[in-house]
Amino acid sequence: MNKGHLTIGGCDCEDLRKEFGTPLYVFDEEMIRSRMRLFRDTLAEYGEGIVYYASKAFSCKAIYAVARQEGIGADVVSGGELYTALSAGFPAERICMHGNNKLPREIREAIESGVGRMVVDSVEEAEEIEREAAARGKVQKVLLRINPGVEAHTHAYVQTATPDSKFGFSVSNGSAKEAVSRLLKLKNVQLTGYHYHIGSQIFEKESFAVAAEKVLAFAAEMKDAFSFEPEELNAGGGFGVWYAAGDPDLKDGDYRTFLRTLFGAIGEGCARYGLKKPRLMVEPGRSVVGQAGITLYTVGAIKEIPGVRKYLAIDGGMFDNPRYCLYQSKYTAVLANRADEEPTELVSLAGKCCESGDLIGVNMALPKAKRGDLVAVLTTGAYNYSMASNYNRNGVPPVIFVKNGEARLVVRGQTYEDIARCDLLPDGLK
Ligand SMILES: *Cc1c(COP(=O)(O)O)cnc(C)c1O
Repeated sequence: MNKGHLTIGGCDCEDLRKEFGTPLYVFDEEMIRSRMRLFRDTLAEYGEGIVYYASKAFSCKAIYAVARQEGIGADVVSGGELYTALSAGFPAERICMHGNNKLPREIREAIESGVGRMVVDSVEEAEEIEREAAARGKVQKVLLRINPGVEAHTHAYVQTATPDSKFGFSVSNGSAKEAVSRLLKLKNVQLTGYHYHIGSQIFEKESFAVAAEKVLAFAAEMKDAFSFEPEELNAGGGFGVWYAAGDPDLKDGDYRTFLRTLFGAIGEGCARYGLKKPRLMVEPGRSVVGQAGITLYTVGAIKEIPGVRKYLAIDGGMFDNPRYCLYQSKYTAVLANRADEEPTELVSLAGKCCESGDLIGVNMALPKAKRGDLVAVLTTGAYNYSMASNYNRNGVPPVIFVKNGEARLVVRGQTYEDIARCDLLPDGLK
């Protein structure tokens, strides 16, 4: 705090508003780097492996550059993410390409650029990879995405006999086994192991152990059936982060515990089933960038509906953060220009979009705010900017990185011209 103002990365939020305006996405660069190192260094305890930053959480050139500098990999889920990573100089070998329905064009671009791994989510896709790789005289390393029948939800995991998911091949209905047999017959596709991802915002470490055990049991079954043993295992991401009161506020040690629990389960499973210890990959997204980001807004209209609620309207909304609309996600707000005052009332933070459901949150505790005050919404680093839209033709706000008291623009805000850039007026409409 500085003069009662919220600070981040050594910068006073009121100064940031003066320099960049609002709405504004602000990222603490050092916090991102330290999380990347935490995952990287903890994985090194296991042995061979790689951390892929799950870039769908927050994708722009600067974040790929940071991941590159920290020596980790990146997971991408579309041609657009792949393009952004490559144009930031990200080494293709350290990219893992995901997607439940990769387009022929995306498959081609991935193989042409030389991505290190692709995660196969359908047999047709594997055959397409085979054709494209063969045409270029390449062999593409792939992992098979399997669904072990464990779904983790925050504080609990459920074991589902018949998983209902658009992702992966089900272990329980035999489709995963069938896929292994089909992939092993391909020549320009080299199956190196299995990928699984059991959910997001997971706080229960046992979930990671239960899933690993199931995947290794499947691997043992495949070893018996096809003499195929995985060289690699990709355990996905999903490590939870704090958003609001009631969420555990995990520290570095807790993330280490998540990983060590996973390492332990893999060690035990491999011993039990006589499998060699695979190279390990993890894909944290939210836990790398979530808490490093905040969004700054300026308070505009205030509307109190007696006996119902008080709306505080801000200059952003669902176009920069659609997560309340999508999942009723909880957030914490702070009055950044009077951060030393105690909260005195509960308000609903409303966006400026023409949509009643356009809220950032409800029942958020704040000091009594007035027009012009500066609001910071915390933990907006993941799945905010990456989910932004131009709804109501609002421009996507700029993104800055702050570090040691300095702010650097890494994504400039969209102008009206940017928003209308792809619009055309064909003959007859001019
Ligand atoms: C979304 C996703 C991740 C990252 O999940 P987080 O909850 O952000 O850590 C990792 N791997 C896969 C396959 C995903 O779909």
